[in-house]
Amino acid sequence: MTPQTPATPAASAPPPPRLRATVYGYPRQGPDRELKKAVEGYWKGRVKADALRRTAAELRRTTLRQLAEAGLGEVPTGHFSYYDHMLDTSVMVGAVPERHRALLRRGALDGYFAMARGTRDTAPLEMTKWFDTNYHYLVPELSPDTVFTADSAKQVSELGEAREMGLDGRPVLVGPVTYLLLAKPAPEVGADFDPLTLLDRLLPVYAQVLADLRAAGARWVQLDEPALVQDRTPAELDAVARAYRELGGLTDRPELLVASYFGRLGEALPVLARTPVEGLALDFTGPGAANLDDLAAVGGLPGRRLVAGVVDGRNVWIDDLAASLSTLGTLLGLAGRVDVAPSCSLLHVPLDTAAEKDIDPQVLRWLAFARQKTAEVVTLARGLAHGTGAIAAELSAARAHLAARAHSALVHDPAVRARAAAVDAADTSWDRRSQPYARRTAAQRERLALPPLPTTTIGSFPQTDDLRAARADLRAGRIDAAGYEERMAAAVREVIAFQEQAGLDVLVHGEPERNDMVQYFAEQLTGYLATRHGWVQSYGTRYVRPPILAGDVSRPAPMTVAWTSYAQSLTPRPVKGMLTGPVTMLAWSFVRDDLPLADTARQVALALRDEVADLEAAGTAVIQVDEPALRETLPLRTADRPAYLAWATEAFRLTTAGVRPDTQIHTHMCYAEFGDIVQAIDDLDADVISLEAARSHMQVADELAAHGYPREAGPGIYDIHSPRVPGTAELTALLRQGLAAIPAERLWANPDCGLKTRGWPEARTSLEHLVAAAREVRAEL
Ligand code: GLN
Ligand code: ZN
Repeated sequence: MTPQTPATPAASAPPPPRLRATVYGYPRQGPDRELKKAVEGYWKGRVKADALRRTAAELRRTTLRQLAEAGLGEVPTGHFSYYDHMLDTSVMVGAVPERHRALLRRGALDGYFAMARGTRDTAPLEMTKWFDTNYHYLVPELSPDTVFTADSAKQVSELGEAREMGLDGRPVLVGPVTYLLLAKPAPEVGADFDPLTLLDRLLPVYAQVLADLRAAGARWVQLDEPALVQDRTPAELDAVARAYRELGGLTDRPELLVASYFGRLGEALPVLARTPVEGLALDFTGPGAANLDDLAAVGGLPGRRLVAGVVDGRNVWIDDLAASLSTLGTLLGLAGRVDVAPSCSLLHVPLDTAAEKDIDPQVLRWLAFARQKTAEVVTLARGLAHGTGAIAAELSAARAHLAARAHSALVHDPAVRARAAAVDAADTSWDRRSQPYARRTAAQRERLALPPLPTTTIGSFPQTDDLRAARADLRAGRIDAAGYEERMAAAVREVIAFQEQAGLDVLVHGEPERNDMVQYFAEQLTGYLATRHGWVQSYGTRYVRPPILAGDVSRPAPMTVAWTSYAQSLTPRPVKGMLTGPVTMLAWSFVRDDLPLADTARQVALALRDEVADLEAAGTAVIQVDEPALRETLPLRTADRPAYLAWATEAFRLTTAGVRPDTQIHTHMCYAEFGDIVQAIDDLDADVISLEAARSHMQVADELAAHGYPREAGPGIYDIHSPRVPGTAELTALLRQGLAAIPAERLWANPDCGLKTRGWPEARTSLEHLVAAAREVRAEL
């Protein structure tokens, strides 16, 4: 018998073995969106700075505790943000625009929020999408005069919080190359200034931060370089090599882990492998799976650390643990040390499935949010360290849940499958639609009898507190469905009356009944799941709850016909039917991982096609199918774009091509750059397109003209993102600019986007100015 070791009292039991599992980031908001409430309270003056800081620190501690208890060997630090991690990076490197400096000197928080949101007299930083996620970051503004200075305070103090708890913290920073590649020239410098030319000035600042973090006890630091999964020029790859040779050559620094995610590293992999960094983190999910062969091709990372992103960090399905374990087994032979991780920060998924009380418990087992994904990477690390026997229970549970999902009637609808399989070319270029545009437009002109430069809006009117209160009242049972409908009907009457009085030509019902342009439809289609607490940060304090596409999609009953017909019954002018297009229905949801996106898009398109047919049958002469996400869903690598655009435009045509030639199909897109998708816009074969253009001075009108776009277009002349009311003169000037590119018989006058975020007073005056401007320019024709 082996000698008995003396029993240790429970209190001093050895900590659980440190597993080689980690995550790069975690939801910031807290289980009840405490951070949102505290930050917004601070903006309104209801929460003091100290209280906000305390709330934030408490949330960070809770996260650290959760991650440690889950069994992570190393916890990320510094990924927390009051608003955005790119903004934090700008502060860390001292890249603060002149206009925000004075405020920042007066108070760190106020200066910080001024950069994020602007003030009465200073514009904020521009905001744009973080790669192909639905998270938005604040774009650094750099110029040849930018002087970088290191401010490590936030990173050092957040590392300290982990160390105080006895945890091995790994600070996570946006890497210098990605930081510069995502920056743009400051407004005062020309567009041809390339921020990457600042690399040599930026690297010493990173060197200082690394030294500070080492002094604060960091053993490893993670530098995120997701921009390297996009196509990069030789000069950019050269910058990567230079950056990591230089940082790697420093003596006073922690070990460096360069992290990539959102896909395949490609040409950047051999470049990074040749630098003296101690570790790489790679994505092995989706298109990132190609990293496995690429890694083998460079001879692996002998003696170095590989962090393997094998669990999908941006979708909500449980992991196929057996498959991941086998990938990890292969990777074990390719690196000195392998750690298990999700493919990217868990910022992009909700916090915890346990909060979802409305989802059938059977179905809930198919889902993994941040907390569950953390448990998955720990399980995999345990399996990797101790063999499959050590995780037999987890493996068999995962197998059972995956099998249940694969065979569930909720997922498979044979009728939907059969219908999607039967789609052929005629459905997407329907003979009536495929009539030359000239003939279609003649039929529409006759039916609609619109003046030149017809005026319209994009769909939504102000979502007032009153409308939101009505929804809350309905949920809380304070009013019944009939009471709710009456409040919506009153809103529709108000919107129609206003538009008639303002003199708009094509009216809308105002979308008062829609909580959100995707959720509203998701709730009425089969195949979608809704969450109660599945909040994901979109930007700053704005969180969204994307629906989950779980199964085959169909439309059991008409979704919008009643409200559209009601609105039409109130006016002789045409009322536009208003639908969200198939690509956007996917882009702003969590999608299936068991069906190609193109197939899901086709199912959604067929469901919407039925809605279009019903709207037409009810007498709707104009139907708008919004696709704001068409451009933003473009794959990160250009090689993947043609295939995407092919199925995306096909889905749009499948939605719309079933109508008569005299039914006018509109579409709408926002987000300023369209130059690279004009052909795709053309391929939609919509009769009228409205686009965001006011802030880019009608640039899109020129782009459409240059392409020879043959149909009607309404480049937005009123920027709805700001409460500012544009004057009539400004609007006439923009219309005349539009006329220089698009002839009068094909130009529309409309705002950039829907008015749901605006207040009534400014929306009213702005639209009155818009109608006045259209009339003035019309008179000159
Ligand atoms: N019809 C929608 C609205 O007006 C379009 C919104 C959008 O493009 N994001 O609100
Ligand atoms: Zn829009």
